[in-house]
Amino acid sequence: MRVFALLFLAFLASGASAIDISNRYRSPRNAERRVRKSTELIVLHTTEAPARSSLNKLCERGEAHYCVTEVGTVYRIIDRDRVAFHAGRSMWNGKEDVDEFSVGIECVGYHDKAMDMVQIRAIRDLVKELQKMYKIPDERVVCHSHVAYGAPNKWQKKNHRGRKRCGMLFAMPSVRTQLGLTRRPASDADVRAKRLVVGDDYLRRVLYGSVDTMKASYPKTPSPTQGQEGGGLLSWLRGNAKKPDNKNPDAGKPQISAKNPPPPPPKLVPAPTAPAAPTSPPKSIAELKSRGYVFKGSVTKGVTASKIAGSRWNSKDTYYTIRNKVIPGNTIDPAHIENGMGIWMK
Ligand SMILES: [Zn+2]
Repeated sequence: MRVFALLFLAFLASGASAIDISNRYRSPRNAERRVRKSTELIVLHTTEAPARSSLNKLCERGEAHYCVTEVGTVYRIIDRDRVAFHAGRSMWNGKEDVDEFSVGIECVGYHDKAMDMVQIRAIRDLVKELQKMYKIPDERVVCHSHVAYGAPNKWQKKNHRGRKRCGMLFAMPSVRTQLGLTRRPASDADVRAKRLVVGDDYLRRVLYGSVDTMKASYPKTPSPTQGQEGGGLLSWLRGNAKKPDNKNPDAGKPQISAKNPPPPPPKLVPAPTAPAAPTSPPKSIAELKSRGYVFKGSVTKGVTASKIAGSRWNSKDTYYTIRNKVIPGNTIDPAHIENGMGIWMK
């Protein structure tokens, strides 16, 4: 017993990770990705889509190292020392192809919507751990829009910063405070050196100016951490109180127990489901996709709707598409189900 206790204490002293990371969506692409030569940046992204569809896509294509869901569950996609394809056309300080020297974290949510504190805390803990591991200072924890750039096109004659606003909220001071980051990049070295021009002035003011649309959503002071001040045994126990439910990417409130009560509800932050809970039915195929619906098949001769959708053929959560129309299953007239109609479900 005493030996066990000693081993346990030695394990704690070794600085063991307090973060539970699920391998449920570890990408089959891992083996083919080379090991990165250096790690200079941590790049934060927003998925702009719900958890399940994001995780499936990230896993299939190996497009991030980690994905943090809206309930704070962390999934490993690509092993952290290998190259993940997350930054696309990108440049930082004159160096192109940021994938070659960065770790990418996808956060389920939207670039201009506040995230719930349970997710922010999970991102913060993961970022802290990676900063320690790769010796990355706060100002090199950036968002995708800091590094993405666009090639000349119809609207922009030159290579330009502002190809996308992905992860934009993570540049805002109020959000960085909650992430425990005290500094951010001071200016855009590539614009200064005229390698790029500014293609999105609003984005520039978010990244480097004083635009901060999240101020009302977060308290001014950092929220209490679960793992840091306490340190040692308590934080380790808390961080490992329960493993995430690997069957359900959304069942991620694992650390709540009598011993470890849930954190106080965040003030002024929308409810946890807010980012992905539109109330009106989707109106287009793009919207169906972005809400996580998957195409199940088309009605044809011999393939009826109930063959495709089973007993859910007339559910309000099943959608029929035809000629750019989207019809909820609970309003469809069975007499009007016609060949060529697509069926979408979750
Ligand atoms: Zn991105």
